[in-house]
Amino acid sequence: MSVLETITSENAIALEDKHGAHNYHPLPVVLNRGEGVYVWDVEGKKYYDFLSAYSAVNQGHCHPKIVKAMTDQAQTLTLTSRAFYNDMLGKYEKYATETFKFDKLLPMNTGAEAVETALKLCRKWAYEKKGIDENEAQIIVCENNFHGRTTTIISFSNDPVARKNFGPYTAGFIKIEYNNLKALTEALEQNSNIAGFLVEPIQGEAGVYVPSEGYLREAKALCEKHNVLFIADEVQTGIARTGKMLAVDHENVKPDILILGKALSGGAYPVSAVLADDNIMGVIKPGNHGSTFGGNPIAAAVAMAALEVVKNEGLAENAETLGVLFRAELNKFIEGCNIVNGVRGKGLLNAILINDTEESSTAWDICMALKENGLLAKPTHGNIIRFAPPLVMNKEQLLDCVEIIITTLKQFEK
Ligand SMILES: *Cc1c(COP(=O)(O)O)cnc(C)c1O
Repeated sequence: MSVLETITSENAIALEDKHGAHNYHPLPVVLNRGEGVYVWDVEGKKYYDFLSAYSAVNQGHCHPKIVKAMTDQAQTLTLTSRAFYNDMLGKYEKYATETFKFDKLLPMNTGAEAVETALKLCRKWAYEKKGIDENEAQIIVCENNFHGRTTTIISFSNDPVARKNFGPYTAGFIKIEYNNLKALTEALEQNSNIAGFLVEPIQGEAGVYVPSEGYLREAKALCEKHNVLFIADEVQTGIARTGKMLAVDHENVKPDILILGKALSGGAYPVSAVLADDNIMGVIKPGNHGSTFGGNPIAAAVAMAALEVVKNEGLAENAETLGVLFRAELNKFIEGCNIVNGVRGKGLLNAILINDTEESSTAWDICMALKENGLLAKPTHGNIIRFAPPLVMNKEQLLDCVEIIITTLKQFEK
């Protein structure tokens, strides 16, 4: 069979099942086209995408400006490696550092790689600038974090499914409760070898857990007091998703190290980055760190276009406005229903809490019904469904989606 032949959903799923590793449990829908807020399955059914590839497609599917930047660059120069300079990387670094107001950017490809980069940068800074004894640096992380899938990152996860039987684990991490300033204060006071505090401004994978107002600002102040680097993992919350360019902007916090990925490329290409000022990034010298593909010309062209789209189309403002509307509309329904316990989120990163146990299949069943009704979403943790549409959505489309969601939820009223 030619791979270019069209196939049925059933066949495509059977192929993956037989020939692919089973490291995901996808909703049974096979997509072959996307445009803006919509995707289509191989049978031609159209859906609203309410996951946006885990917030990578904030700019909408196949945004023409991003696709053009990518295809133009792909026909000109794709990869040089960093053994040589290319004419795109510097332009992109200038553009991105001006956008996010940092001195320097270190380009990588995936979110997990960028997190790894931030951890290495933090440790090296701790030894060379803070003066922590070699191999003694500790980094504080939060319970229920999600920072990716590498051996080191899962070492400080507390999700047994992500961790079990992947040991031995990387040492040097202290885990505290998220959204708990007292725990952070204690951890900082009890140990003089703390190099950094790694935190998601909103815990996306954990179920769109929004910390209390002021948490990030206070946490940053505590880090400053103890000469500890505040490292914001904005791989999911960044690039306008929560109604500001960065989620930390809601509290006017400037992280010492900023981690970006996902929508940095508008979902067109794997592009991630770590940003920091010179006093921190300066510890990285030739040979300390790298990536064959990191900072390649296509990535640079795509990321610049993706950031331009966010600014030119006012996606942060749109996410803010539509997010308020979305939660208000859902709350009207939730008040009088018994299937949903609440909706929470910021901008267009939201989740509903299904009134059933974590072990129940209700959230999954609701997502299956949403699919039948033309909207794609996925449970995060058992009974939580995340709603994160592309930010290019308009008000009419959003209200249409609210209607689909409420109609579907009504089918599950007890
Ligand atoms: C998705 C995600 C990552 C990992 O990104 P990958 O590109 O999948 O490696 C890291 N941190 C957060 C907060 C994420 O949401």
